[in-house]
Amino acid sequence: MSRVPVYLDHAATTPLDARVLDVMLPYLTAVYGNPSSQHAFGQEARRAVLRARTQTAALIGASPEEIYFTSSGTESDNWALRSIAAVRRAAGCRHIVTTAIEHAAVRETCRMLEGRGFSVTYLPVDGAGRVAPSAVAAALRTDTALVSIMTANNEVGTIQPIAEIGALLRTRGIPLHTDAVQAAGHIPLDVDMLGVDALSFSAHKFYGPKGIGVLYIRRGMRLPPLLYGGAQERDMRAGTENTAGIVGCGCAAECAVAEMRAEEVRLRADTELLRARLGTIDGIAFHGDPQTRLAGILNFGIKGMAQDTLLIRLDLAGFAVSAGSACSAGAVHPSHVLRAMGCTDEEAQRAIRVSLGRQTKRSDVDAFADAVLQIASEVH
Ligand code: PLP
Repeated sequence: MSRVPVYLDHAATTPLDARVLDVMLPYLTAVYGNPSSQHAFGQEARRAVLRARTQTAALIGASPEEIYFTSSGTESDNWALRSIAAVRRAAGCRHIVTTAIEHAAVRETCRMLEGRGFSVTYLPVDGAGRVAPSAVAAALRTDTALVSIMTANNEVGTIQPIAEIGALLRTRGIPLHTDAVQAAGHIPLDVDMLGVDALSFSAHKFYGPKGIGVLYIRRGMRLPPLLYGGAQERDMRAGTENTAGIVGCGCAAECAVAEMRAEEVRLRADTELLRARLGTIDGIAFHGDPQTRLAGILNFGIKGMAQDTLLIRLDLAGFAVSAGSACSAGAVHPSHVLRAMGCTDEEAQRAIRVSLGRQTKRSDVDAFADAVLQIASEVH
């Protein structure tokens, strides 16, 4: 029987933690009541949703009443941007500031808003993928409706100076949204320290279930509902709750709060080890901020080695990693993130992303490094 591949693509999604599955199961079987129902079945489901809202809020230092469950990080990003833009447009503001390295969930929403009369500034980043707070300040206009800047990048892991940006926007009274889908559950986040008004995240990126996203909306921000219908999510997102998913999100958040610091230290040590071993390869280039980045992500390319060749060779060797760039209709487009960081098309097209996670063992990292060194030795 062939060996089970080693999963090194945790930035794409994480496996469900066994503890999370355990707490979810009763809500898929015995506790099937609708949280809106008044009888005992409903009451028990409602209590579970309430508990999960509190656990989820604690992950980002928010109050439970500021947490709205959605179906994904993408939905949360869409809701935040579209609703803040709509409210601010009514006040005559039609300018949005974001970055050139956002995930498609933000980028495409901004493009859609451009089509509806907004002008959007896509801020550049430096070679490490960082946005300068001074560039944010310089981009602001009297009609700036909102600023949306990701907390950490999904391709290279670079963490943005959100707290600094939040502080400067506060003085200008401009709302700040951050896409924290990669960061939540992995680095400590506190909405007050960050100074954000809206923050999106998604349970499947921190060992929770797929199909559950979260939008934090600061108390006092009056935004229109995402969906109209029943009174779920305090009249803001109608539709019967995904009780099991919400319970899973709460449990995953609680586990992350308890374990993220120790996990970060371990992941950083393992990623550094990998970086050191791969650093001996001729023509290797690492992308992303060496210090200020998510502990588990390493993005690199090897000169003379096409991305798809490397990915296929690694797949054959039993390692699941991913490309740094999106592939559509058979054509590999260079990553917009790496291009924004100053890489040439060729450099961007050979980059791959390795992302370690909770169940990655040191021996997996060693075996992966051996495999890359072996593959590289055959081309050089
Ligand atoms: N934003 C970032 C930075 C992401 O990495 C992702 C997913 O990869 C998303 C948004 C979308 O999240 P979801 O998969 O929950 O829709």
